[in-house]
Amino acid sequence: MNNQSITKEILKWYDNNKRILPWRKHLTKKQKQYFTLVSEIMLQQTQVKTVIPYFNNFIKKIPNLKTLANINNQKLMKCWEGLGYYSRARNLKKAAKKIIKEFDGNLPNNVDQLKSLPGIGDYTSTAIMAIAFNKQFIPLDGNVERILKRIFYLKTEKEVRKDNLHKKKYFFGKSNRPSDYAQAIMEIGALICRPTNPSCTECPLKKNCIAYKKKNFDIKSKSKFNKVKYFEADIYKSKNKYLLIKNNKFNFLKNLLIFPMREINQKQFKSSLNKRINIKMSNMDMKITINKKIRKKNLNNSFFIDKVNIKNHILPSFTKKIFKTVIRY
Ligand code: SF4
Repeated sequence: MNNQSITKEILKWYDNNKRILPWRKHLTKKQKQYFTLVSEIMLQQTQVKTVIPYFNNFIKKIPNLKTLANINNQKLMKCWEGLGYYSRARNLKKAAKKIIKEFDGNLPNNVDQLKSLPGIGDYTSTAIMAIAFNKQFIPLDGNVERILKRIFYLKTEKEVRKDNLHKKKYFFGKSNRPSDYAQAIMEIGALICRPTNPSCTECPLKKNCIAYKKKNFDIKSKSKFNKVKYFEADIYKSKNKYLLIKNNKFNFLKNLLIFPMREINQKQFKSSLNKRINIKMSNMDMKITINKKIRKKNLNNSFFIDKVNIKNHILPSFTKKIFKTVIRY
């Protein structure tokens, strides 16, 4: 198939199969820009089905850039609670302030200006350009990468490097519906060209796909092993209340409430007889020993939180997991 018929086939597939998503509704231009910004930031590191209820709630409480720029941090974090990677929410608010101050309240229609906003990098800027502004960009997300690796049967380290994948995108050609086209390609990766068991018979690209011809769908990716780190968490309990501190110590979960804890070495971890819990973070695997202690007074920057009242506090999933273990313990 030539580029033109590939484009046609992809869009035809998209028109018949796309998911109905809240940020794909019929929207005004202004809404489209805001919805795209919020959804793309939420979709960094998080799957579509997880994002949908958070997105709907966020838009209900914070319906536009102006409200976002002025929202109280406590309310903002409450809307983000459970979604993880909280710096995304903080950056989103900073971006809204900057858009209002420097771009007259309009999301910039330019890659470099978009990248000047907090939390927006190469991928998100091209996604916004394509989706919100209908410009000829194909954002290179994990889905698009996987499709390219299979179509061209890319197997070596050199072949799967980002610069080579960007070159290979010429395959998709141009479309007269750039916004739909970019979303269509990503949607094929999400729904059909899945990491395992791709549904090739339904795929509009099968005639061009070497992996399909060879029946070999293995994906070459850079191996990434998380570093294992060891911690000891101190659980101070007074009646039904537990002591949490605002985290100013570690680079992860900055400014969020955690149990007081410190990093220890593997030997100390192994010699501890306390209850243990493993928590997977994006960039490390944490092994934590739970150290029960007694304390009546607060530490600096700390709060005693009643276990029946946990829901009223903004707690990262990390702290909630430890809470669950502690309460059962
Ligand atoms: S034919 Fe199969 S492997 Fe090739 S792009 Fe389509 S779904 Fe992926």
